[in-house]
Amino acid sequence: MRTLADGRYLTAANTPWSLWGLLERGLSEADWERAVQEARGCLEGLPAARVPDAAGIVGSLLSEEQLGPDHWRLGTGGWAYYALRRLIPRPARIRLQRQMAARARKGALLRWPVEDRYVRFVAEVVCRLCQRRGLRSVPYVHFWPGGRRFALVLTHDVETAQGMHFVPTLADLEERYGFRSSFNFVPEGYEVDVALLADLRRRGFEVGVHGLRHDGRLFASREVFEKRAVSINRYLRAWQAVGFRAPMTHRNPHWMQSLEIEYDSSFFDTDPFEPMPGGTMSIWPFIMGRFVELPYTLAQDHTLLRVLGQATPQLWLRKVDFLREHCGMALIDTHPDYLRRPECLAVYERLLAEVRRREDFWHALPAEVARWWRTRMSWIARAAGHTGEAAAPGGATIGRITVADGVSEAGRLVLEPAYYVS
Ligand SMILES: [Zn+2]
Repeated sequence: MRTLADGRYLTAANTPWSLWGLLERGLSEADWERAVQEARGCLEGLPAARVPDAAGIVGSLLSEEQLGPDHWRLGTGGWAYYALRRLIPRPARIRLQRQMAARARKGALLRWPVEDRYVRFVAEVVCRLCQRRGLRSVPYVHFWPGGRRFALVLTHDVETAQGMHFVPTLADLEERYGFRSSFNFVPEGYEVDVALLADLRRRGFEVGVHGLRHDGRLFASREVFEKRAVSINRYLRAWQAVGFRAPMTHRNPHWMQSLEIEYDSSFFDTDPFEPMPGGTMSIWPFIMGRFVELPYTLAQDHTLLRVLGQATPQLWLRKVDFLREHCGMALIDTHPDYLRRPECLAVYERLLAEVRRREDFWHALPAEVARWWRTRMSWIARAAGHTGEAAAPGGATIGRITVADGVSEAGRLVLEPAYYVS
């Protein structure tokens, strides 16, 4: 009997067939299962590769179950650091963060900044399926509306009152480049300016909730979490917010089912630098119990600019290219608190300018992406066994996947997002 405490149950809706939405008659679940077995070599080196069935493999990746039963517990070192960090002088704190980061990267199970094993695995599943059925190409429900190659989502966490005061400047900058973003505020961390929230919404930005207090205690115990969840749900309603990100990306997919949200964005594809490192390895949204998970896929500003000391957006842009190639979601989490520094804002602005030139992305607010993903998934479930003539949901595009001969494993699946627009 499966319960909500089973991470795989929370992510059971996310099968490879629901991800791809192939519009090919007569593909049975047994065909998919066989293809999964043949493709599992792509997951080499991961505990998930040893799980026997398709649902178990995907579940143990997306729910981070493969990282072990203690994964959601913050080690004592982590607690001590977060309790004491305000007492450590700034230069020493950065030095310490850099040492911790180097150690984290060395010991990490997942690769960074690009972890492509899940991406290659789901692509290989389709290759094997096509080979088995003698198909060179198949129609599929493309990942993003309008045949756009990838999705671009900008999000921010506002840590302090100083960060909040910088929000209008940051919103102005994004507007100049034709972008909108979401700002997640801490309800009981500083006095949140409700007029600012209303103004952001009026301008087409989104408002979300960033924990309750920014004290690293949200996941201290189940009791603490449940008590705080009641307050968080109250703020969600008061702010007309549907999205959440936990402070310091502390997370627990089981406990978080108490949040009355449409989406969460506390998880990521890969990030060894967070206090709870790891990753879901997914560059697409997925269902996690009652909400849609939108994992961030670009490094946090703090990691890139402070811990790694980068002075250009190149690392971000290289990842965007990877996400674009695989029709993924480029979701970034930056902080007005850091971007207040002119040198940090300059790098962020260069990112916006560079991405703007790419043109073939779907730029959307996180709430829009979460709703789109649910619509696409439920349509795929209804369309199972149909062909491309079936009416797709508004904005959806039927694309074509072709298996190319004679190229490397990673590059042999060619996606043409739009050959037929409904
Ligand atoms: Zn935060």
